[in-house]
Amino acid sequence: MKLYEFQGKEIFKKYGIPVQSGFLIYANDEVKHFTPPLVLKAQVLVGGRGKAGGIKVWDGSIDVSKIINELFALKIKKEKVNAILALEKVDILREIYISITFNKSRSIHVLIAGTSGGIDIEKTAKLNKEKIHFVEIDPFLGISEYQIRGIAKKINIKSYLEFKKIIMAMYNIFKEYDATLVEINPLAMTPDGLIAIDSKINLDDHSYFRHEELFKKFKKEKKLIQGKGLDISKSRDDTITYVPLSGNIGVISDGAGTGLFTLDLISKFGGTVANYCELGGITNSEAMLKSLKMVTGDSMIKSILVVLIGGFNRMDEMAKGIIKFKKEFNKDIPIFIRMCGTKEEVGKQLMRNANIPVYNSLNDIVEKAVNKAMES
Ligand code: GDP
Ligand code: MN
Repeated sequence: MKLYEFQGKEIFKKYGIPVQSGFLIYANDEVKHFTPPLVLKAQVLVGGRGKAGGIKVWDGSIDVSKIINELFALKIKKEKVNAILALEKVDILREIYISITFNKSRSIHVLIAGTSGGIDIEKTAKLNKEKIHFVEIDPFLGISEYQIRGIAKKINIKSYLEFKKIIMAMYNIFKEYDATLVEINPLAMTPDGLIAIDSKINLDDHSYFRHEELFKKFKKEKKLIQGKGLDISKSRDDTITYVPLSGNIGVISDGAGTGLFTLDLISKFGGTVANYCELGGITNSEAMLKSLKMVTGDSMIKSILVVLIGGFNRMDEMAKGIIKFKKEFNKDIPIFIRMCGTKEEVGKQLMRNANIPVYNSLNDIVEKAVNKAMES
C-alpha cells in the first residue's frame, strides 16, 4: 500500500523526523485565513508532482483560493487531486536524497543516499551514478554507526548526529511498519537544520495481518480523499471471502485454487491486486452481483478479472449476476471474464446476448487486465 505524503509525514513526526507544520485541505473545505508563505501540495499517489505542477508556493501576493482551485482542477498522471497539503514554506540550502528499501535478490536491506536530491533524482541516478551511494544493511545486525558516518561523509553532511537520528528513525519505520520503501526526497538542509520536505512510504501488503488497524485507517483516509465507490460490506451468512489489498486490479474467482493462480499470473505480468473476492460454496447470481459491488467499492480499481471454473457453481447464474451489475451500476471499469464448467454454454449465450465479451485464455485476460490498469 502506497501512503500519501501527509500519511507518511504523520509517521515521520511520530518517529522524530523533522517535518514542516501544516494542514490538509479537502475540495469542499472553506478557505480559512491562511498565513503566507505556504507550499501547497497536491496529495496524489503518483510520482513527479512537482514537474506536473502539483506543488505551488503561495507568497501572499494573490488570493490563496485561486491557487487552491488550480490545484483541485489538476489531474496528475490521470489521478485527480482531491486533497492538498498546506505546509509552512522553508528555505532550502541543499537537497539530499535518502531511502531505505530491499535488495530482493540479495535478501538484504539497502540504504540509498544521493548528494543532490529533488525532482530530478531519476535523471541523476542514470547520468551521475557517482552521486548515488548504496549501503547494504544486514537485517540481523541493523544499521551500524560506521555505515551512517561513511554515508554522511560521502554526501557531505556535517551535522552527523542530526543525520544519524533521521536515518535511524527511517530504519525503525521501515522495520516496524513492514515497509518496502521509506524515502525522503528531498531531505533539505535549511537554516534550522535538516527537514523532510517530502515522504514516500510503501507498506508490504503481505503484512496486513500484523497491522490490520493501521491498514484500515490508511484505507479509510484514502477513501475520504478518493471518494466514490459503492460501500458494500460482507454479511455474516455470505460465503464470500473478501481480502482488501492495495493495488488496482479487482479479482473475483469461484475457488481458492483458481483465485491464487490468477493472483500469481497478475504478479507475473507486473500488475497489482486491489482486492480479492472468492465466492465459495454453491453460489448464485446475487453473490456474483454482491462481489462485483464489493470489488468496485475500492476506488483504486482500474480493471476487474472474473475467473470462473464452475464445478458446483453454475455459469448461467454467474452470467446473470454480471449482467445485472453491468445494467444497474454501469460502471465503466473494464471487466475481463473467463468462464467454463457447469452450464458454460448457457452462461456464454447470456453474455453474448448482453454484449459482454467472454474470453477463453486466462493468460490473455490477465495480460489485458494488467495493461488496462497500467495505462490509466
Ligand atoms: P515531488 O515533486 O512529488 O517529489 O514533490 P516534493 O515534495 O519533493 O517537492 C518538489 C520540490 O519542490 C522540492 O524538491 C523542492 O525543491 C520544492 N519544495 C517543496 N517544498 C518546498 C519548501 O517548503 N521550500 C522550498 N524552498 N522549496 C520547496
Ligand atoms: Mn519528492
